[in-house]
Amino acid sequence: MTHTLINLPYAVDALEPVISKETIELHWGKHHRTYVDNLNKLIAGTEFEEMTLEEIVKKASGGMFNNAGQTLNHNLYFTQFSPDGGGQPKGKLLEAIEKQWESFDKFKAEFIQKAVGLFGSGWLWLSQKENGELVLGQYPNAGNPLTDGLNPLLTMDVWEHAYYLTNQNRRAEHAENFWKIVNWEVVESRMK
Ligand code: MN
Repeated sequence: MTHTLINLPYAVDALEPVISKETIELHWGKHHRTYVDNLNKLIAGTEFEEMTLEEIVKKASGGMFNNAGQTLNHNLYFTQFSPDGGGQPKGKLLEAIEKQWESFDKFKAEFIQKAVGLFGSGWLWLSQKENGELVLGQYPNAGNPLTDGLNPLLTMDVWEHAYYLTNQNRRAEHAENFWKIVNWEVVESRMK
């Protein structure tokens, strides 16, 4: 199967000022597209050719894993935002967060601390264990919680290309503003 670059569920300037039009055009339009194109070149004629993206991420290594992981990570990242996002989660997602962290504020504080503390390039993931419990994890480079048997729910891309045009070296500033655009309904819909 051929993998395709996802369409964004909003206009390229819709997430301003948290994520600028220039960042979206570069990050989705160039970086994300390149991962998809590289993945399609790499799978041609291999055992990975007919697999879903999730199956490739679970089984691949090296360059195949990096490009499949980055394709999936960005698919989940760009579709979790909305210009009408922000606020707090509701329903079963809020319940699960409060069970693990007591409050949304405590969860948010730990998420920010771990995102800012992740050395180099990578992803901070909120994911779900098979027993329903939520967990935060720092994943370097193209990492995705699927490889640990977890269900990925929400992520912050901490590669510099995700925030550098707006926040320069201030990753913490981006990590604070990130919450204004999270579409909690999408995040909750990913729960199993
Ligand atoms: Mn990225």
